[in-house]
Amino acid sequence: MPARTAARSGAPQRVDFHAHSFLTDGTTSATEMWTEAEALAHRALALTDHLSLDDPKPLLDRLHREASAWDGTGFLPLVGVELTKVPPRRIADAARAARRAGAEIVIVHGETIVEHVPAGTNHAALESGLVDVLAHPGLLEPKDAELARANAVALEISARRGHALCNGRVVRRALEAGAELVVDSDAHGVGELVPLEMARRIALGAGVPESELARVLRETPERILRRARQH
Ligand SMILES: [Zn+2]
Ligand SMILES: [Zn+2]
Repeated sequence: MPARTAARSGAPQRVDFHAHSFLTDGTTSATEMWTEAEALAHRALALTDHLSLDDPKPLLDRLHREASAWDGTGFLPLVGVELTKVPPRRIADAARAARRAGAEIVIVHGETIVEHVPAGTNHAALESGLVDVLAHPGLLEPKDAELARANAVALEISARRGHALCNGRVVRRALEAGAELVVDSDAHGVGELVPLEMARRIALGAGVPESELARVLRETPERILRRARQH
């Protein structure tokens, strides 16, 4: 039986930094997403609804109100944003505005090959030093993988169809550069959340070696969670 690298004292360990509610293009409420994640033994799920250059505050205030229902429980409902199709020269400003407005997690909608994402988005996100995860980076360049390592930005292995087409390249570049990886669902509804065992299989399928699974599924998420709580 393969090592259960992420299991520790029976506590749920699945941490997912990327999901959407109907506040943008998801199909259910944030509350329903978090309720389902808790039922699937997640430790934390970030709701990262799409944001461009509009005011992040109404979105984040609403998510924080819903998240407060888990105060004092063991589950962590993280409140965040996915900066989406922001002109690259404005990504750092948008990330700063989201942090100021209460975002615990800031991710950027990277250069997936299945959509038109402005060229330079990956680089601007990684350079800003204000982003936790670069989502679905697509045809990631080696020098951007180096930048991810230098600025401690995790690169995303995506469970989402289409975005997942470049997972193999993202993993290879990350391993070459020593950059961190996470497995995110990018769920737009409760049926798309990814329990720990499936996250493990997706990581292995994308080329993460067994020896790196603990780093991808536990150590990197723990580091990002510690940083999220400092904001
Ligand atoms: Zn995205
Ligand atoms: Zn997304």
